[in-house]
Amino acid sequence: MNRVCEEHLSLDLARIDLRPGATRRLPRIHAHDLEWQPHAFGGYVRGYGLRWVSAAYACNGDTVRVSVSEGAKDRTVHRSTHVLSLIEAPNVVGGTRTWFDCPCCRRYARVMFYRGGSFRCRTCANLKHRSTVTFKTQRKEARVAEISRALAGSGKMFDPLPIGRPKYMRKAREAALRAEHARLRKDLGMTSTPPAHTPAPGVTANMIKVARLLGWEG
Ligand SMILES: [Zn+2]
Repeated sequence: MNRVCEEHLSLDLARIDLRPGATRRLPRIHAHDLEWQPHAFGGYVRGYGLRWVSAAYACNGDTVRVSVSEGAKDRTVHRSTHVLSLIEAPNVVGGTRTWFDCPCCRRYARVMFYRGGSFRCRTCANLKHRSTVTFKTQRKEARVAEISRALAGSGKMFDPLPIGRPKYMRKAREAALRAEHARLRKDLGMTSTPPAHTPAPGVTANMIKVARLLGWEG
């Protein structure tokens, strides 16, 4: 069950061309663009029957006609046509604005989502924004990887951060990122300390002491 807005075909009035007669193609959505989603029972599922979805739309002023093609896992393609009605409503600040008229709840919507064979508003399609469905742990793990990449590390969650600061990064920023990294690792139960940095041959204890005094070591 993927129930995230970002993974569904959508029509956004702020982005689509509403000029009568305009025909446009929406970017195709591929199954491999979709992320793993947290499952209600704690695991992760990837329950799509589709390999890709694509669509083209045309406006005539009062309606938007959308042709949807869905490529199923068994390599068959299913095509369908949908007519979405537009509604002109007065703006708070004056003038009017065009909205979609959700066929399900009759409320005005700026974005319509294609789910389960029809276009509906986000509420009726029962979709959530990705940021609200992602597990806390998942978000933290992603942040650990992000910090690692920012500090020119491997970007892998379990790898220790590299020593030293990337060019152009301020010292305060580096310190903040390292502190956040350590805190997140602790939160995630990754208590293992990174392997001790072994000095290169020929580096004496005194040299390390001097380097530390000069603040060269990360
Ligand atoms: Zn609705």
